Amino acid sequence: MAVIGIDLGGTKTAGIILEGERIEERYREETDASSQEGVLRGLAQACSELMEKAARRGIGIEAVGLGIAGFVDFERGVVTEAPNHPLRDAHVRDILADKTGLPVFVDNDANVAALAEARLGAGKGSRYLVHLTLGTGIGGGIIIDGRIYRGALGAAAELGHMIVLEDGPMCNCGARGCLEALASGVAIYRRVEEAAAAGRISPAVEEFLSDPMAFSAETLGRHADAGDALARDILSTAGHHLGTGIASLVNIFNPDAVTLSGGLLGCFHHMEGAMREAFEGTAIAISRDHVRILRSTLGNDGGTLGAALLALEGLS
Ligand SMILES: [Zn+2]
Repeated sequence: MAVIGIDLGGTKTAGIILEGERIEERYREETDASSQEGVLRGLAQACSELMEKAARRGIGIEAVGLGIAGFVDFERGVVTEAPNHPLRDAHVRDILADKTGLPVFVDNDANVAALAEARLGAGKGSRYLVHLTLGTGIGGGIIIDGRIYRGALGAAAELGHMIVLEDGPMCNCGARGCLEALASGVAIYRRVEEAAAAGRISPAVEEFLSDPMAFSAETLGRHADAGDALARDILSTAGHHLGTGIASLVNIFNPDAVTLSGGLLGCFHHMEGAMREAFEGTAIAISRDHVRILRSTLGNDGGTLGAALLALEGLS
């Protein structure tokens, strides 16, 4: 049985054809984020190109799965709200089903990434899994008894907005001290900005001041590799907060695995020691000693694979 899996990113739309556990075809195109019509046109284009590729090879497509960053009402197939796309109350499932003639399943991108980790990735075989995407922001997905946990409105598992430091730094969501405000790419960038404003001097801060727009967590990681103490301190502090957050998640969910993906894994070696130390010191022993904290093994394929698995699950 073959299905299409599509990951709608802020800048790129990626797609695959999955047959069994094999990726048979790929698709990648810029996302037209100028309007809701543009996004929907891009999604329809991704489906039709992958369906053409499948037809040429005699592969029969049975369904389409789609992962989108945002709040998704899975039952209705509606994207309620999306921070990076001009989608609001968008009936994505029905529109794509109409265009393709196939069953379509739509969910949050981190939810489907969690499904991919539990079925095919680092957490393969886990029935209880917590997944965190560590990028510009922090996304989350929760697998309970093998299935995605969505909550009453599909808005569950906003793990980046778990508060780990009361009265901590301001988060994009309007609260203070969220995990995302302390351990995401944006949070790390802000710490460098603050160090620069406070006149703290280090090679990383100098590079930041020379071109703030080009600076990223990856740049900071390179300075940490070269021995910059300030860079190492910022990354290990972010790691500490991440470990505190993971301890709370493990205490609540008693998962088999916590999996981590996203761009921050590039400098994660500077975060991991402090993360594990905070985690070990905070989590309840029975859950702590059972869980494995693992890096994703799926790389950039986590989103598309998860979307394809969502489609397979929808068919079963
Ligand atoms: Zn928040």
